[in-house]
Amino acid sequence: MVRLNRVVYSYHPPMNNFIPRLICLLSLAVAAVPPANAWGPLGHKAVALVAQERLTPTARRAVYDLIGGVGLDKISNCADSMLFAKDVYNCAGAFDVQADPKKKTQPWHYISLPITVSHSRSTLMDYCPNGKDCVVEQVRRQATTLGNPKASREQKQIALMYLVHITGDEHQPLHNAEDNDIGGNRKQTTFMGVKKNLHSLWDDLIMPEDWKEQDKMDPSPLADELQRLIAAGDLGSAGSGDFIIDAALESHAIAKTKIHAQYSKDKGRNLGLPYQQQMQPTVKLRLAKAGVRLAVLINQALDRGDMLQGNDADSDSISYSEPGGLQ
Ligand SMILES: [Zn+2]
Repeated sequence: MVRLNRVVYSYHPPMNNFIPRLICLLSLAVAAVPPANAWGPLGHKAVALVAQERLTPTARRAVYDLIGGVGLDKISNCADSMLFAKDVYNCAGAFDVQADPKKKTQPWHYISLPITVSHSRSTLMDYCPNGKDCVVEQVRRQATTLGNPKASREQKQIALMYLVHITGDEHQPLHNAEDNDIGGNRKQTTFMGVKKNLHSLWDDLIMPEDWKEQDKMDPSPLADELQRLIAAGDLGSAGSGDFIIDAALESHAIAKTKIHAQYSKDKGRNLGLPYQQQMQPTVKLRLAKAGVRLAVLINQALDRGDMLQGNDADSDSISYSEPGGLQ
């Protein structure tokens, strides 16, 4: 059993991983794009649970109306899983979504910001292909659709599915940084004697590597720990200002100044508990901030929907500059 609140790491051979992950990695060799997954299933579920606990009563009722008694954690990995399905994918028994076996939506899970370039609010979108195929713009668009009174129930279900997942992805630093390494997938490391790439190392740095094992675990202990971290660190302010942009800039800065800077020193060799102890506070902080911000996005969409009237589903005209009303 893996203890999430301590530095205990359980290694399982890669062959025990989810088949989709293997397929995803194989596809990387062809497509040369970062993977859609981040944090592993447990991390995404914990982010979803943190957000769920922070919903206003109105937003909570609206979520219930959309996905029934299925919790946000249950739908938090559907945006990844649908990439490996054919035709129609059923998300956690809550609703159907058209599968995306050609992975056209995969770029929605990341933004490739070169680590050699300094980025700002004004230049960030230069790295969003077609002005929409990146995580930053998709978080904004899915939130807009979720709050759009003109959107259908099905559109809102799918928007919620994406929003819950890709908000987590945006907080994985290596989903926001590019060093000619496909988001760290081409940088090799040895962690506790096991070879793995830098991206995978970060996906599972505080979780068991075996995704089947992760998927069976209760995410509540990790979510509770994140809630305590939020309370102790007063992270409620993370949900104010233009935090969709901030999340990407923060992630990029962490990737550059912590992850790649460390890699340039150690080349990923002989990593172990000291590396995990050094980096796991950052991982938990990213997960916690993702949960806070996800709650604000859902609350703004489903509890303050009257603000959104007049915007169509693809509009990017919503301002997120108001303080997030965490309750
Ligand atoms: Zn993803």
